[in-house]
Amino acid sequence: MVVVMEEQASEAQIQHVMARLLALGFDVHRSTGVKHTVLGAVGVQPDFDHRQIELLSGVREVIRITEPYKLASRAWRPEGSVVEVGPGVRFGGEELVVAAGPCAVESAEQIETIAERVVQHGARLLRGGAFKPRTSPYSFQGLGETGLRLLREAADRHGLLVVSEVMDPSQIPMMLPYVDMLQVGARNMQNYNLLRALGTVRKPVLLKRGLAATIEELLLSAEYIMAGGNYHVVLCERGIRTFESYTRNTLDIAAIPVIKKLSHLPIIADPSHGTGRRDKVPPMARAAVAAGADGLLIEVHHDPDRALSDGAQSLTIEQFAKLMNELRIIAPAVGRRVG
Ligand code: PEP
Ligand code: MN
Repeated sequence: MVVVMEEQASEAQIQHVMARLLALGFDVHRSTGVKHTVLGAVGVQPDFDHRQIELLSGVREVIRITEPYKLASRAWRPEGSVVEVGPGVRFGGEELVVAAGPCAVESAEQIETIAERVVQHGARLLRGGAFKPRTSPYSFQGLGETGLRLLREAADRHGLLVVSEVMDPSQIPMMLPYVDMLQVGARNMQNYNLLRALGTVRKPVLLKRGLAATIEELLLSAEYIMAGGNYHVVLCERGIRTFESYTRNTLDIAAIPVIKKLSHLPIIADPSHGTGRRDKVPPMARAAVAAGADGLLIEVHHDPDRALSDGAQSLTIEQFAKLMNELRIIAPAVGRRVG
């Protein structure tokens, strides 16, 4: 249930409504919007009559939400959320935020070369896995903490922020000094212990859609993180499993406008994992931006044919530069700009 307060509601009235909701057994989350304070009341109270709250002074309306997620729903923050990752880097604002880099951090030279080049073309975050969820246990698993250190150092040298994948709650404390944003991979979208642990962290989370997850399941996973008090969640459409086998996954572009309607959270697209093929990444990146994505996650490698993972879907530096120039033309048509 979402309680929208009147524009002129006093702090005492807001506190009174919050106290009543708590006494009724709800978890209460407060959001202060430009005009209205909105209270999200979470919890199932079978005999609850919402008119009890509607009648309290200062209350404008009570919206009962039928969706199973509340904090992630658009009704809770109708104006949309902006998630700030670092100074001047915000998902959900006017700027289309691009995170670029290799699938995995491989060496100091590799990450330095890529960081230096992607920033020149407008990337704001450097991506790179240090813990890799590989399908085969015999594939390269990532450099672990060494990889995170190399990623941080390269990003700092070039004024980039860092996003990297966390696979297990036990890795979180070690990772925090190295990253600006924690990525939850598709295979972990329903790792509820991990989601709960990230709810206690005060750093933004990039939550990728699971391989076979519905949009509702994705939003419920975001709800896990938000219910713990961490509202800094950015969603990522990265392709789902379908019967089509030409591409690695099927990038569900329609999920972008659907999520924009259902949720206030920023949503970005990952056309690299979404297609699995370098030649299909630029057209799908352009389509995602035209469809309203708040940003992109793109795999880029200076020597993709020798990459230790996902080389086939990694853009060369030149291809990335060309794509960014194309996005500079497309973005203004949908009210966005590229940094
Ligand atoms: C990645 O971004 O490197 C990754 C492993 O993506 P996903 O979890 O979407 O497969
Ligand atoms: Mn990858």
